[in-house]
Amino acid sequence: MICDNCKTREAVILQPHTGRKLCKECFIEDIRKRVEMEARKQEIVNSNKILLAVSGGKDSLVLADTLSQFIHPSRLIAFNINEGIKGYNRNEYVKKLEEYLKDLGIELIKSGFKEEVGFSLDEMLEASLKKKLNVSACTFCGGFRRKLINEAGIKVAADYVATGHNLDDEVQTIVINLIRGDLLRLIRFGDKPLMVSSKFVMRVKPLRKIYEWETTMYAHLKGFEFQETECPYISQKPTLRAKVRDLLYKLEEKKPGTLLRILEQFDEISEKIKKEYRLTNELPNCVICGEPTTPGRMICKNCELLIRSGLMPQ
Ligand code: SF4
Ligand code: ZN
Ligand code: ZN
Repeated sequence: MICDNCKTREAVILQPHTGRKLCKECFIEDIRKRVEMEARKQEIVNSNKILLAVSGGKDSLVLADTLSQFIHPSRLIAFNINEGIKGYNRNEYVKKLEEYLKDLGIELIKSGFKEEVGFSLDEMLEASLKKKLNVSACTFCGGFRRKLINEAGIKVAADYVATGHNLDDEVQTIVINLIRGDLLRLIRFGDKPLMVSSKFVMRVKPLRKIYEWETTMYAHLKGFEFQETECPYISQKPTLRAKVRDLLYKLEEKKPGTLLRILEQFDEISEKIKKEYRLTNELPNCVICGEPTTPGRMICKNCELLIRSGLMPQ
């Protein structure tokens, strides 16, 4: 089987959404070009500094590797958070991540919930259980991760924070927001996110048009070693996302390219809505920590969670 692109090397991959058979080199090149195209569309290529939120998983490695092909590594800086989850030791992979980043010439900043928030994720969860709060680990985790990443972005004066979300993640989130009817969240989402607070460093997702199977394949073909074990709290992930994911996989299997088409259509629609949507006011700031919070709320979700868990005085 010969590669449909170079017509010389042996093909090792079938790309269902294009119907092409590709060799290793042409596949890697295809991903890099598509990431670059998306990064240009998101207008991040000429920025002074981009903070890369990296976990040590495959997507974060692909993010760093692809971006460093067309953005000088001195303008990229990586940021990793240790959430403090017992039995989910990321140290080994963070060490590997650090080595890969060093080879690419990208500096890594390490941070953690314990150092920055005062409590590890396990401690937050334990306290919330004692207070009989019905809050999942992922709710704590997601909220505080967003906060720390944003703070790090401000600290290093980053123009953008880039995350490793792939096409599968992106379309799942669009469908979930549609189901929930959350218009503000939905239109904030597109390829050029709507800024709702000057305290937010703009978040971008250069891998948003790359399928998850493609990031996995890229990482394997490049020989990256990455964390494949699941977080012990994974079962607490919202079940709606799992249902939406399964449904989308079935659609994609029947008609390859479906996810890409949903995302492209969504980007077009959200662009039109954004032009008409005027934000009269910035988001209000939390009276405790100063972070932006939802309209009508004096205290942000993170501070509220700590108060209700008895970890912060009222
Ligand atoms: Fe955090 Fe939930 Fe992901 Fe575990 S599964 S790392 S708790 S968001
Ligand atoms: Zn080829
Ligand atoms: Zn707060």
